[in-house]
Amino acid sequence: MSDMNRYLSEVVRTIPPSGIRKFFDLVSQTEGVISLGVGEPDFVTPWHIREASWYSLEKGYTMYTSNSGLMELREEVAAYEKRKVGVEYNPDGEILITVGVSEAVDIALRALIEPGDEVLIPDPSYVSYAPGARLAFGQAVPVPTYDQDEYRLRADVLESCITPKSKVLILTFPSNPTGAIMQKDDLAAIAAVVKKHDLIVISDEIYGELTYYGQHASIAALPEMRDRTILMNGFSKAYAMTGWRIGYACGHRDIIAAMTKIHQYTIMCAPIMAQKAALEALRNGEEQMRKMVENYNHRRKLLLNGFEEIGLDCFEPRGAFYCFPSIKSTPFNSEEFCERLLQEEKVAAVPGNAFGSNGEGFIRCCYAASVKDLEEAIIRMGNFLNRHR
Ligand code: PLP
Repeated sequence: MSDMNRYLSEVVRTIPPSGIRKFFDLVSQTEGVISLGVGEPDFVTPWHIREASWYSLEKGYTMYTSNSGLMELREEVAAYEKRKVGVEYNPDGEILITVGVSEAVDIALRALIEPGDEVLIPDPSYVSYAPGARLAFGQAVPVPTYDQDEYRLRADVLESCITPKSKVLILTFPSNPTGAIMQKDDLAAIAAVVKKHDLIVISDEIYGELTYYGQHASIAALPEMRDRTILMNGFSKAYAMTGWRIGYACGHRDIIAAMTKIHQYTIMCAPIMAQKAALEALRNGEEQMRKMVENYNHRRKLLLNGFEEIGLDCFEPRGAFYCFPSIKSTPFNSEEFCERLLQEEKVAAVPGNAFGSNGEGFIRCCYAASVKDLEEAIIRMGNFLNRHR
């Protein structure tokens, strides 16, 4: 049998592959590329975290844990969220340890969505949300965000996208791909719309530690929002632990119980060695994490200054490790721009439209690259712009 596609479910067949992956297949075929493409820390996980996991293996911690995750890790997560965003969760029933935020988003959507329910998703945003909504048989509804608003989600724009089928709003601040943040006042306006229309919020706060102007604020901390919000966070970005695959979800116990049901039948539990590592990160990782964040901030300024020098417009991103400059002064759309930049100058960035149609006219540049590479990338991008403007 040559074509097996007819066996595939309609929903899987019709989901497009990630625009990022498509682009990175191209990058892997080109030598000598400076990559501002992958959204991943360039640090190795701090040694004390690796060591804690290693010791746990040595001591024989190789079995399943409770479906919800190690109780001591859930207790540390509860203490962390109380300390950082001021929201209290009971480790017994209100916290679930997951295989990254990726799993948390997937099972939250599957727990909440009835066929045809609408999931409101800021556009542009992280590539997994819309496919996640579709895989849960929901409908992804983009809510445009704009560079003139510094890519904050606006309450009036959100409200204009709401229909009787709207059920879930995904918030993702600090944002991938824009680096935008939402402060308390911005969130309060969104919370009012959420309450008025009886929505549930999935708040992906994976970049919460990577803010460069004051502390991260969570919508879960606003009045009457705790039980309407599933707060998610993970270790991939702040602690440079992408490969460990560990994250968590906190929320109302009915919702966490429903998510735990799916988790229990599909995943069983997050790997124990990764849970041990995460425990060490929360207990003793603050100092090293702060150093990494300072380092990202230095590189953020370097890239922003570089863009200014070569005349590439970019609003100042205040979180995560991305810049999202406009390429509208060139004759190219974002895919053409990235393909030609790769071919002509061997610099990889991600086309903005990979994150939603509202990302067209922009490119995502991740500054978790070495200073030397960032400086060289700016020179090469400057040469490219000189040739094409
Ligand atoms: N959420 C956002 C906004 C991300 O950018 C990413 C990874 O790039 C993820 C979630 C995935 O996180 P994890 O590694 O915890 O699955």
